[in-house]
Amino acid sequence: MSKFWSDMAKRCTPYIPGEQINRANVIKLNTNENPYGPSPKVIQAIQKESEQTLNLYPSPTTDKLREVIAALNSLSKENVFVGNGSDEVLAFSFMAFFDSNKAIRYPAISYSFYPVYAKLFGIPAEEIALQDDFTIPIEDFYQSDGGVIFPNPNAPTSIYMEIDTVKKILDNNPEQVVIVDEAYIDFAAESAVSLINSYENLLVIQTMSKSRSLAGLRVGFALGHPNLIEGLTRIKDSVNSYTVDRLAIAGAEAAMADVSYFNETTEKIIRTREWTIVEMEKRGFTVLPSQTNFIFATHPNKDAGELYTALKEKDILIRYFKVPMIDNHVRVTIGTDEQMAQFFKMLDTIL
Ligand SMILES: *Cc1c(COP(=O)(O)O)cnc(C)c1O
Repeated sequence: MSKFWSDMAKRCTPYIPGEQINRANVIKLNTNENPYGPSPKVIQAIQKESEQTLNLYPSPTTDKLREVIAALNSLSKENVFVGNGSDEVLAFSFMAFFDSNKAIRYPAISYSFYPVYAKLFGIPAEEIALQDDFTIPIEDFYQSDGGVIFPNPNAPTSIYMEIDTVKKILDNNPEQVVIVDEAYIDFAAESAVSLINSYENLLVIQTMSKSRSLAGLRVGFALGHPNLIEGLTRIKDSVNSYTVDRLAIAGAEAAMADVSYFNETTEKIIRTREWTIVEMEKRGFTVLPSQTNFIFATHPNKDAGELYTALKEKDILIRYFKVPMIDNHVRVTIGTDEQMAQFFKMLDTIL
């Protein structure tokens, strides 16, 4: 604490990201990164861009990238906003759509950046408890005062909500913005993007960090009615005109264009996930139904915190949250088949 800090700097409680230990022999199954690396075309595009134009500012409107993203979603570029990771898009969304005199709602067990932004921007929040089966109680999100935000699939539970259910939340918040954070949607059944033309209050946020394997490049985007996109653009242009740099734009365009690489790696992760769930259950774990690139599991007679520590001693990092209701669960990112085999080998020595 310093006497020089503003009220804002004093009141915020910064987000704590998962550990980034980059020793060569560590198997990182703790931050939901993609084990396969981006498409080779992404590397080529970044190399080419880096040889040419780094002396020039990037496009402040990222028109071409927005067109590429729009085309893949059968939308137009007026429906697309691009930012420096979806975390930034989320931060801009809190500023653009939520107010300090109306409480927003999000699940109590959810992405831990939401309470961070709510506090930073002085937005009151109602944290809605999950049901005993870890699903979201839908009706508790009806008629919110200030808006709604939730991930679909939810994190860290990995549970997916059907589109018809998302629709009900939209129908029951006609005067509020409903933000669906689809960080993991490419590992799940169906995106809410198909609802954008019918719901002017829907903002869908996606990221290139997980399914496109570009966590290090920092590109995320929002899809919604042009009025919502304009709101986000007003905030961005009041903070920083160039949040997405030239290398990120070039890499992101190439990543979106290489659909076959995306399909291949996504399918591989889903196959490994299904195998991982079977192997976990064989060892006595209960695993929540996952539609993400991670699983959320608990063991009847092995403490989750101890399991996390024991695996870390064996150079395998998983995620453990010391939070009521989930403090006996572990979150394990799906790695390659080889990484998961090593994970099970070490797990067996611990169990
Ligand atoms: C990973 C994640 C994000 C952030 O993604 P970035 O684009 O890397 O900032 C947002 N929401 C959820 C639920 C996530 O899991």
